[in-house]
Amino acid sequence: MEKIDIQTRKRIDFIEITNQIEQIVKNKNIKSGLCFIFVPHTTCGLTINENADPSVRKDIIEKLSQLIPENGNYSHTEGNADSHIKSSIIGHSLTVFIENNSLQLGTWQGIYLCEFDGPRTRQVWLKIISSI
Ligand code: ZN
Repeated sequence: MEKIDIQTRKRIDFIEITNQIEQIVKNKNIKSGLCFIFVPHTTCGLTINENADPSVRKDIIEKLSQLIPENGNYSHTEGNADSHIKSSIIGHSLTVFIENNSLQLGTWQGIYLCEFDGPRTRQVWLKIISSI
């Protein structure tokens, strides 16, 4: 298993991690396989979405915050109940194909760590599996 440390900058923050993951994949020299990506945290998540226009990320963050406000009527009293809910909705893992030593993503796709209770140092775990 490979581990990457990511420093987030704000309470809610989407940080693109495509290049760090791609670099680790390239060092493995895999002709065909899978990259399983996981975050071991309860208040952040992972998503794949557009990395060209930053307004897409802004819209996702604003809509999530409208649906799940920071200050709601929650049972969990740590002050981060909304972060746990956002994290569960976004999810904690992704799987991306690897072909010819490279992650197979669509033209406009990037991999994002989604911080919902930052700033913090987060870990991303990778399991890279060769299928040949
Ligand atoms: Zn909590």
